[in-house]
Amino acid sequence: MALVAAAALAISVVSAQVAFAQSGGVGAPGGTTTPTTPAPTGAMVFPVGGPHSFGDGFGAARSGHTHQGQDIMAACGTPEVAVSRAKVKWVSFQKLAGNYVVIRNKKLHQDYMYAHLATRASVSKGQVVMPGQQIGIVGQTGNARGCHLHFELWKGKWYRGGHPINPLPFLQTYAGY
Ligand SMILES: [Zn+2]
Repeated sequence: MALVAAAALAISVVSAQVAFAQSGGVGAPGGTTTPTTPAPTGAMVFPVGGPHSFGDGFGAARSGHTHQGQDIMAACGTPEVAVSRAKVKWVSFQKLAGNYVVIRNKKLHQDYMYAHLATRASVSKGQVVMPGQQIGIVGQTGNARGCHLHFELWKGKWYRGGHPINPLPFLQTYAGY
């Protein structure tokens, strides 16, 4: 029964294989999915909901620093969605990041930062978002050349004691990749 529910959920987020790999891999710490509730709290969804390709990766040289995220190239206007259930921590604009939003997955102790949105994120600080829920659209605000999502994955809190890690291996396991 639990497997049936899990399979149905997996199909609903595009790829059963990916979702199964996900649940075996980057799942919640100590976490097993609750068999009775089909809520996709453990599912991870690719942050760009449309055609995309990978651009500059983590560690790429930048003037004065290194790139601490993964660029995901997509047409301006393409939906950006929450990768997981998360709470919106910051919605703002900064001259380099442009319009950006930071969401927090408390269970996984991960923060996800989305930059260069075309317009202000469509969610508000304190709001809880679900995996796959739209939070903005791809743009090129701030220091961006070409429409893309700059995506950061932080272990711990974004600029509050955490540190960014290479998100690519994770992104490649997310449903919709
Ligand atoms: Zn970038």
